[in-house]
Amino acid sequence: MTIRKDVFANVDHEVDVCVVGAGMAGLLAAVAAARHGAKVVLMHDRPVVGGNASSECRVHICGADRHNTIANMRETGILEEIRLENLARNPNRSFSVWDLILYSKARYQEGLTPLLNCSCIGAQMDGARIKSVTGWQTTTQTCHRVCASIFVDCSGDAVLAPLAGAAFRMGREARTEYNESIAPEQADARTMGMTCLFSARKYATPQPFSPPAWAYVFDGDEDLPYGAGGHGWWEMGYWWVELGGESHAIHDTEHLRDELLKIAIGIWDHIKNRGSHGAENWALDWLGFLPAKRESRRYIGEHILTQNDIEASGPFEDVVAYGGWTMDDHHPAGFWAARLGSPATVFHEAPSPYGIPYRSLYSKAIANLMFAGRCASATHAAMSSTRVMGTCSSMGQAAGTAAAMAARRGLEPRRMLDNLGQLQQALLLDDCYLPRMSVKVSPLTRFAALSTRRGNGEPVRDGVHRPVGTDLHAWTASEGDAITYEFDESTEVSTVTLVLDSALEKNIAMSFHQADDQLRSLPACLPESFHIDVRQGGNWKEVARVSGNFQRHVRVPVDRPVEAVRWTLDRTYGAEQSRVFAFYVD
Ligand SMILES: Cc1cc2nc3c(=O)[nH]c(=O)nc-3n(C[C@H](O)[C@H](O)[C@H](O)COP(=O)(O)OP(=O)(O)OC[C@H]3O[C@@H](n4cnc5c(N)ncnc54)[C@H](O)[C@@H]3O)c2cc1C
Repeated sequence: MTIRKDVFANVDHEVDVCVVGAGMAGLLAAVAAARHGAKVVLMHDRPVVGGNASSECRVHICGADRHNTIANMRETGILEEIRLENLARNPNRSFSVWDLILYSKARYQEGLTPLLNCSCIGAQMDGARIKSVTGWQTTTQTCHRVCASIFVDCSGDAVLAPLAGAAFRMGREARTEYNESIAPEQADARTMGMTCLFSARKYATPQPFSPPAWAYVFDGDEDLPYGAGGHGWWEMGYWWVELGGESHAIHDTEHLRDELLKIAIGIWDHIKNRGSHGAENWALDWLGFLPAKRESRRYIGEHILTQNDIEASGPFEDVVAYGGWTMDDHHPAGFWAARLGSPATVFHEAPSPYGIPYRSLYSKAIANLMFAGRCASATHAAMSSTRVMGTCSSMGQAAGTAAAMAARRGLEPRRMLDNLGQLQQALLLDDCYLPRMSVKVSPLTRFAALSTRRGNGEPVRDGVHRPVGTDLHAWTASEGDAITYEFDESTEVSTVTLVLDSALEKNIAMSFHQADDQLRSLPACLPESFHIDVRQGGNWKEVARVSGNFQRHVRVPVDRPVEAVRWTLDRTYGAEQSRVFAFYVD
């Protein structure tokens, strides 16, 4: 098919990095690449970004902290920045406000051009390299062609794999292929299914509900064992309204949507009209018409992450991301698995954290193709853990950072293995966590004389930004406390970097029903205001005063020669004490 140039518009783009798909993996990849100096296009087929986390699907971001059952394992970096902004700006947990926050990250990031409502439908090759990709933008009836040095596929469906001829897999590996005990004996094409979620709202008066004639009818609670049984009607949401694992997870989506709507409405009809569920005053508030997908194509990269890698905690030298969710392997029959007497999912234990290698984020055969998120290179078993969005975000930030660094150096992604230390340090300095790794603190920070008004300040330069085991890796400050670096002589300081206390030991989630201990507003221990003074010619002078802070990772420009730098905590959001995980001068 050729696009009629007299009818439709054509626009060409020339960039360093093109990211396809703006789920959490793609959004973070694009933002990270742009912040590392790359010119970036983010091509995304929906009007809102965030993929399954957006208002179109409303899936909650989970990760290695497993709703805080594993303390201090929350993903930091850009994801923490977004979640803290959501705590600050979205007290009602509105998905529209959340959409706006994600949209702002993509739309107003310098160096980043989002192409929304634009579906990637083609790739033009130059041998084993992608030269450009083509996208069709429905709102403008425009064909966009994006030439880039590096392409990062975060489409979930790995759309560039068949388009570029990269190796991929769909379905479950046989147990013997990678010696995975949780894999089926025979390989098959089955996947985890997709879901149309819904939510309800409570009113002061009874609310009737009349289902359309096409909805399924579930008369008794026994028809819905996952709802009334172990998972509860309200507590765990409706993730088990799942289909598609035994169909084609891409080409059958429209038909599966129809079936999912019949089931979802049938469940709501049951709750309202056919059982005793105390739902008289509840009304259907929202129903997702875009099925949220769990699994489709997965790339085969330089390394395929397996169950055994995860169980061994992923001790890779090229670790660039981490996970920690259980291997949460949903039954391919999804909703109908109950009729087979099977559970909707089996949670196979996994360590948290486990490392994810860089080699799982780039293609073996296509020289300039990277990927992140649920389509990264992992077996079905491993992906049943890595697919949660905290982990996808961690992979996305790593892939975007690597793509920008590779593009700047004129390297293929694979060659970044020769620059691994720099990639890992860039991620750590951006406040990503990499298990067992620490920041190589600059000589300026390391050799300065450190003093505090009280307590041991040394942990602020030990290079670890969170409590690990029994070690806090932090200096504990009260309001009015200060920490100072003094240099032997007047020294040019460009930036002060702080990693502050955002209560990683607590849970952050989008809705309030999930866990009682979750943060509903900014954590009390987070510094709301602080200031920075420098000493020049023996005199102290304030160079920055920050109030209304809601971030954990803060960079403050100083840009002058100084004899000493001092950071003072003025006020927290209510706690008596706050921990400082890093105070670096560069
Ligand atoms: C019902 C359900 C419940 C879940 N529960 C949780 C949970 O509680 N917590 C959790 O963290 N995870 C959960 N997951 C898993 C998680 O949502 C996914 O694994 C995750 O969204 C994958 O992130 P991603 O960024 O890789 O892809 P996605 O979120 O799928 O985003 C990819 C984006 O790329 C876009 N795209 C696709 N093709 C193209 C194209 N050709 N051109 C342009 N754009 C394209 C898509 O529209 C999509 O928005 C759940 C999944 C489902 C389905």
